Amino acid sequence: MKKCITDYDLFDKKVIIRLDLNVPISNGVITDDNRIKKSLKTINYAIEKGAKVIIMSHLGRIKSEEDKASNSLQVVALRLSELLFRPVKFVGETRGSILENEIANMQSKDVILVENTRFEDIENKESGNDDELARYWASLADIFIDDAFALIHRAHASNVGIAKYLPNGIGFLIEEELDKMLPMINEPKKPFTIILGGAKVSDKIGFIDNLIDQADYVLIGGGMAYTFLYALGYNVGKSLLDKDKIDYVKKLLSDYKDKIILPLDSITSTSIDGNNASFIKNIDEFNDDDIGVDIGPKTIELFKKYTTLSKQVIWNGPMGVFEVKAYSKGTYDILLSLVGDRLVMIAGGDTAAAAINMGFSKDFTHISTGGGASLAVLANEDLPALDIINEK
Ligand code: ADP
Ligand code: MG
Repeated sequence: MKKCITDYDLFDKKVIIRLDLNVPISNGVITDDNRIKKSLKTINYAIEKGAKVIIMSHLGRIKSEEDKASNSLQVVALRLSELLFRPVKFVGETRGSILENEIANMQSKDVILVENTRFEDIENKESGNDDELARYWASLADIFIDDAFALIHRAHASNVGIAKYLPNGIGFLIEEELDKMLPMINEPKKPFTIILGGAKVSDKIGFIDNLIDQADYVLIGGGMAYTFLYALGYNVGKSLLDKDKIDYVKKLLSDYKDKIILPLDSITSTSIDGNNASFIKNIDEFNDDDIGVDIGPKTIELFKKYTTLSKQVIWNGPMGVFEVKAYSKGTYDILLSLVGDRLVMIAGGDTAAAAINMGFSKDFTHISTGGGASLAVLANEDLPALDIINEK
């Protein structure tokens, strides 16, 4: 068991909490504050216990001085302050005397938000886990708590680096993500169905290889499905195709032919933006310029037979171009079919966004906030930011 925030006496201690406050910002306005809200439990606990709370996070990508202007965490500090009902002192630097003095003057229960850790990325120091930077940040505090689940598969200076030099533990968000995900991966309830969709086969190979032996059924929709159909000899027109992965897909189809369930029909159009007419076509009826944009009605009925008989479902990758309303029915109908007496985990940034935006945020066992991190967990990849945390 990994150490967590509750294992430390935080009173009057300087505690760095690494969060994922990488929220979407448009024209200076936060358009979705879900990541800030998901971080509140850990921050509030530290305040309650009388810590001096020093929050760190990344925001966007910083590869030049110009990138800094549009990626300051200042606006996040304001929103965080509203959600915490207390002042949050924003320090617009990632190192130096201003930051050091602000920390030296902190009282118990004060909260500081440090500027975007990726301001240290022009020379790749943050993402490259630069040791001097990690030591410096660690020197500012007494305890390090990591609660940035979205970065658990990355070794950056602000997670793995600081953790190396301070007593450390995980926060409530990482704890909850792992508590929900790991039992479904390690001891799946049967029948167990995997739903795969989204853009590319190549993004999902680790997940497929790690879990396909345990699954009873694998339903394949989304853009991915056309690589499978192509491998079987169908004309998929101009649909998404992962040319490099055709041999991989052929092998899957031969090794797991009884498990893999492919679409019978698609919604097709000649563009994916929703501006052109769309048609329902069986998968052997595609023209050369057709693009499959969603699963069709026969496929929805077929997939529902498997989702409704399952006791556990793990889903990554939308069934179609769900961002366009006319092509979102496949994803919606399959989500709806999952509501009920079964364990359901939704993983992946776009799939989670689809489930939440379509109104299913309370209906499932778990909707992972982790994006790529949740796929890394499903793929049983190394998780350096978790490995570095001390055992209890
Ligand atoms: P996640 O982020 O959940 O891991 P992906 O990034 O793999 O999912 O896939 C999501 C993207 O796949 C969406 O932008 C969606 O529009 C796209 N997509 C789904 N089906 C199709 C399709 N048939 N053709 C093209 N793009 C598709
Ligand atoms: Mg995605």
